[in-house]
Amino acid sequence: MRLEHKTALITGAASGIGRETAILFATEGAAVLAVDINETGVKETVKLIHDKKGKAAFMLADVSKASDCQNMVQAAEDQFGHLHILFNNAGIMHSADDDAVNTEEDIWDLTMAVNLKGVFLGCKYGIPALRRAGGGSIINTASFVALLGAATPQLAYTASKGGVLSMTRELAVIHARENIRANALCPGPLKTELLMKFLNTEEKKQRRLVHVPMGRFGKASEMAQAALYLASDESSYVTGAEFVVDGGITAAYVTPE
Ligand code: NAD
Repeated sequence: MRLEHKTALITGAASGIGRETAILFATEGAAVLAVDINETGVKETVKLIHDKKGKAAFMLADVSKASDCQNMVQAAEDQFGHLHILFNNAGIMHSADDDAVNTEEDIWDLTMAVNLKGVFLGCKYGIPALRRAGGGSIINTASFVALLGAATPQLAYTASKGGVLSMTRELAVIHARENIRANALCPGPLKTELLMKFLNTEEKKQRRLVHVPMGRFGKASEMAQAALYLASDESSYVTGAEFVVDGGITAAYVTPE
């Protein structure tokens, strides 16, 4: 098992990437603290893990709130002894996120609070716990939009993910001598609720798919496999990376018909 004797805290664990990763990490031997604001969803994630005889607990926390982030890290250490893997994955893409002219300030602020400040707060309280464990792996979910501009406007989201990517690089450099690695997972467009709610017509979906060489949306389980590599000791010399898992979208100039 690739994560035996490790404890992982995963935010956004009620669905999508977070849920699939929580299940995979537990299957690989990790004790998982599944964190989300969605109580029903996060309880279901934990049930799915327990059904497979894995080790997991849930915690309700809003990653944009400092006290919640402090409590979730404390809960991971209280319940499982140590924290070795911090997966800052929770994120939102608001349907009213648009171009600069049409995005309201409150949508900008909310997106930044969850997607960018949430990662900062996870690190603020998580890094001392990783130090107490003798080191660990931080994985922050950015996006391919941190690397490419999209014509379907989602300005606040894109800016927040650019921030996650550059913050991750700096975290990697600052903590490199403490046996703490930090990498950004940059998923391509995925068939999860987050994106499907945004690309809510067939026309919008096709407009995005035109750019993906593989011609399909990615799956949350494919991101979980990438997160597993970054979490495990197999990636022991990988830090500060933009780990792109995107069906080739960032490699393409023109995609095949
Ligand atoms: P998802 O909507 O299935 O999962 C996101 C989870 O985050 C949900 O369970 C939600 O309840 C939780 N969440 C939202 N706000 C929160 C908060 N304030 N505190 C705690 N939890 C909160 O979406 P997903 O596709 O699995 O997204 C996971 C991450 O991947 C996000 O950061 C997203 O931006 C990123 N991402 C997604 C795509 C995509 O195409 N779906 C592409 C690139 C990056």
